[in-house]
Amino acid sequence: MNQEDPKKFGLYLHVPFCSRRCDYCSFATWTDREHLIDQYLTACKTQAATWAPELPVITSIFIGGGTPNLVPAELLMNVVAELPIATDSEFTVECNPDLVSSDQLETYVHAGVNRISLGVQSMVPYVLASLGREHDPENVQSAVKKIRSAGITNINFDLIYGAQGETNEDWRVSLEKALSLEPNHLSTYALTVEPGTPLATDIERHPDDDDQADKYIETDRLLTAAGYSNYEISNWAQPDKESRHNLLYWNQGEYLGLGVAAHSHIGQKRFWSVRTPERFISAISKNSSVEAGSEQLDVDGWALEGRQLALRTSSGVPEEFIPREVRHLTQPADLDGNLKLTAEGRLLANEVAVRLR
Ligand code: SF4
Repeated sequence: MNQEDPKKFGLYLHVPFCSRRCDYCSFATWTDREHLIDQYLTACKTQAATWAPELPVITSIFIGGGTPNLVPAELLMNVVAELPIATDSEFTVECNPDLVSSDQLETYVHAGVNRISLGVQSMVPYVLASLGREHDPENVQSAVKKIRSAGITNINFDLIYGAQGETNEDWRVSLEKALSLEPNHLSTYALTVEPGTPLATDIERHPDDDDQADKYIETDRLLTAAGYSNYEISNWAQPDKESRHNLLYWNQGEYLGLGVAAHSHIGQKRFWSVRTPERFISAISKNSSVEAGSEQLDVDGWALEGRQLALRTSSGVPEEFIPREVRHLTQPADLDGNLKLTAEGRLLANEVAVRLR
């Protein structure tokens, strides 16, 4: 267990299916494997059952992908049905707003889901089209309505900035329209060019660093003014609505990942699973390991990584670890005696992280 907080343990379940691939995406997800959904979820359930006797009580669950709400809700919830889940756990399912339905939500709520993360990306139609996304921003509003009617009050929006043709004004409109729907939490990500994606080969559409920096500063200004605090570089939350599951990752907590390409951290060992659904299903059916690789950090590496992760968050790191030449990028943190990055400093987080002592 994590020494800092022995009571927390997370579970991640990866659903590697999407109806269409966004051209900037390099995640482990497939658009032509729907015929494998049943077998895949059954294999995940078997994997969960194998681990169950060794697991402590689970305090946060995140079902991500891919598009988790593309697969039948009953089958999805069945994967985690027999795991030791704390009654007050944070239980999130990532959803495509177009596919949210009241029946699906009812099944989720019945299984304990209490948080939905919506892939909103943008509230401006031509920006969505430029991202290669097909949903209609109007659907976000109707999805939020259905989620609240189902009794789920904790909602996150994922947004992306920096698509080709997106002006500063478009981004501001996206943020304001998103805020008008009163999500409890917002994750905003700079569009990044991942090798091997269609976006990587289309240089004309590559985002501009200065433009993205301007949008980041404007995001922080707007969200802070609306009552959200930045608690990690890309994440803002209303009071007490920080994602417990994500905090676990940034605090070097322990978690188990189920399904393909899922990462786990137990003890001081990190390990991850095979990437394709076929290999995963086949290994589980033969009762053999799905582990594709692992690593173990030594004590010093572990401590440095802990500081680098903490630097991303509003807890910050003790002043003595931050060299004088980058201290102008920091300010007093939420945790006494620590320093955290300013908004401008967060834009240079990687440069500061490599200089940490
Ligand atoms: S919906 Fe998400 S996981 Fe699926 S292709 Fe698009 S970005 Fe990737």
